[in-house]
Amino acid sequence: MLNLYSSLKSIPRITPQYKKVLEKLGLKTVRDFLFYFPFRYDDFSRTVPIAQDHINQIVTIAGKITKTKSARIWKRRLTITEIAIEDDGGTPLKAVWFNQPFILETLKEGEAVRLSGKLTLDKKHFFMNSPAWEKSSRDATNTGRLVPIYSQIPGITSKWIRWQMKMMLPLAKSLPDVLPEDIRKKYHLPDVFTALSQIHFPDSKSKLLLSQKRFAFEEMLLVQLRALRIKKDWEHKNSTSIKFNEALIKNFVSHLPFQLTDAQRKASFEILKDLEKERPMNRLLNGDVGSGKTVVAAISALEVISSGQQVAIMAPTEVLARQHFESFCELFSDYKFRICLLTNSYKLVGGNLKLANSNSDKTNRNPNYKLPFTNYASINRNKLLEEISKGNIDLIIGTHAIIQKDVAFKNLTFIVIDEQHRFGVSQRAALQREAMDIEDGERKTIPHLLTMTATPIPRTLAIAFFGSLDLSVLDEMPQNRKSIKTKIVTPQNRPQVYQFIQGEIESGRQAFVILPLIEESKSAVMAEVKAAKEEYEKLSKIFPKFKLGLLHGKLKSKEKERVMQNFKDKKLHLLVSTSVIEVGIDIPNATVMVIENAERFGLSQLHQFRGRVGRGKFQSYCLLFTGSDSKNTLERLSILAESNDGFRIAEKDLELRGPGQFFGTLQSGLPDIAMESLGNIKLIRFSRFEAQEILKNDPELKKHPLLENALMKFSEKVHLE
Ligand code: ADP
Ligand code: MG
Repeated sequence: MLNLYSSLKSIPRITPQYKKVLEKLGLKTVRDFLFYFPFRYDDFSRTVPIAQDHINQIVTIAGKITKTKSARIWKRRLTITEIAIEDDGGTPLKAVWFNQPFILETLKEGEAVRLSGKLTLDKKHFFMNSPAWEKSSRDATNTGRLVPIYSQIPGITSKWIRWQMKMMLPLAKSLPDVLPEDIRKKYHLPDVFTALSQIHFPDSKSKLLLSQKRFAFEEMLLVQLRALRIKKDWEHKNSTSIKFNEALIKNFVSHLPFQLTDAQRKASFEILKDLEKERPMNRLLNGDVGSGKTVVAAISALEVISSGQQVAIMAPTEVLARQHFESFCELFSDYKFRICLLTNSYKLVGGNLKLANSNSDKTNRNPNYKLPFTNYASINRNKLLEEISKGNIDLIIGTHAIIQKDVAFKNLTFIVIDEQHRFGVSQRAALQREAMDIEDGERKTIPHLLTMTATPIPRTLAIAFFGSLDLSVLDEMPQNRKSIKTKIVTPQNRPQVYQFIQGEIESGRQAFVILPLIEESKSAVMAEVKAAKEEYEKLSKIFPKFKLGLLHGKLKSKEKERVMQNFKDKKLHLLVSTSVIEVGIDIPNATVMVIENAERFGLSQLHQFRGRVGRGKFQSYCLLFTGSDSKNTLERLSILAESNDGFRIAEKDLELRGPGQFFGTLQSGLPDIAMESLGNIKLIRFSRFEAQEILKNDPELKKHPLLENALMKFSEKVHLE
């Protein structure tokens, strides 16, 4: 007897060639198959008489077959199959298919049939070209309803899937419902069997929507349950509490060359409060490019270092790590701190090397300490590791090389991960796990953890994806920031744009030219590299006096970093790059950002590119080339021209292009149905609320074994935090 957990291989009517395709799709059991959802629907739900009123509409008509015919055109290797039908009112219609002669094995003269498709007129005769069809005696499956369309996979048709689905669906009656009944009732969501039936064979659009909502809710509930559990796990760990030292912080802040924004104050306060606790902080600092996350991290680090503990700051690339090393040496130049840069190619120490020793009083600031910070000492790796393990280094900055096995700390109490999204989803999870594993022997504590985004994440997404973290938001930019002048330009403007670039470079500035990645595939990378090289050649001819650099995805990361560093060091005037360009890099002297084929990028990504300029005291410009004159494209791009508000742009991008560009769908492992619901703030809030309620009364999910089970499976396939 077939049941939900029967292997698809055991079903005789599924022939071996289909079994192979199903296996490739990862569908093993009947249950897997039932959860293979359509990606769209053809609306054939309107059944109408054959009549002039419905010309050029997608409809279903029913009638009796009066004549059939099949003809071969040898020259064109074509078979034309034709049937004539009459509806109840006696109106005739002709339908034609190409290369499907087998149709006539089913559709014979005298049979009643349903056809779905576009009704047209062919020389005054009603006509349908390649309509969907089935005998009227059969249940409406392929015609006469909302018809499910499954992803196109070679070797398998939607029609075949529908046929199988129809037969397997009754087995879903015994499927236990993961979504608790009280929640279903409260939100008027259908039970799992109803929802599955409606997802595959919807009776109406509203029932379909409700069923989609139900599955999205279920996924989101699991997301939130998991996030809350991870949060709870952190709460059970111990951390070293760092006492708030008001005088220290006030003094530091008052010596900054600028006033903190309110958002920076608030975020710093939230972090310092967390640091006071004896359980580890796990917080996300969500802020736009240039919103000043570094100084917030510095305030937090200052407090930890001053209390005699170690701090680590991790950046995704060597260039960024080096940049942080330089900024922190500068920010802490009045303090007796020892700072090191630890990456695969750099092993440097900086800070007040002569003055600092592990016993010195670190809370005192003294401007006379100032040493030339550009004189970093290069140091042997083993020696550096020894210094770190002895606690002679206060602040360790680097790539993820710093949490490799051979790096031991004396008392690492605080870890900052910058540009966390660049680490990739699984790498990030690993980082957190490793951070959780770092214990110092005696106290069994783990470090507080602060992660920082490189780009604003819309609130819904932040809650949905980072539900295990507390959230601080920098939604305010420093006052003094000159807004970047952004303009959409057409290919006809090219000469003026190049003239403009020339002018900027001649007055000492630098410029970027960004080319889009066409699509992510091996051959596309090659095409992209070719395009980048051609652009580089072209611009070299246009600007023969300037030094140009080229960055693309085929360069080794070492070479990429070298080019970036050269640009940063002003050895290059103009940088041609594909979208691989570093997002966090600070090049205050660059004032022009030219983006080719801007319509191919998401708004958030464009905004991120734009953030590479406007970081210094000069007026900066972003020029978006597009050859497209589609109204939608121009409207979308004009959002950028009008706004510099990263959060607004991110919200808009979410609305227009979905969450895919914030987190790779494939990477997260979340099903499409849940991804699509991520813009739905209510659904996310409600699922979060219900997850909290469930765990409040039943923290171990003992009373919710189905949820517990689903959660375990879910954790295996979905990677969010
Ligand atoms: P991001 O959030 O992108 O990491 P940074 O921390 O690199 O931004 O800050 C960008 C620039 O803004 C830095 O040069 C920093 O010194 C400066 N900055 C930070 N906060 C302020 C502020 N409140 N007022 C003025 N300038 C600021
Ligand atoms: Mg930064």
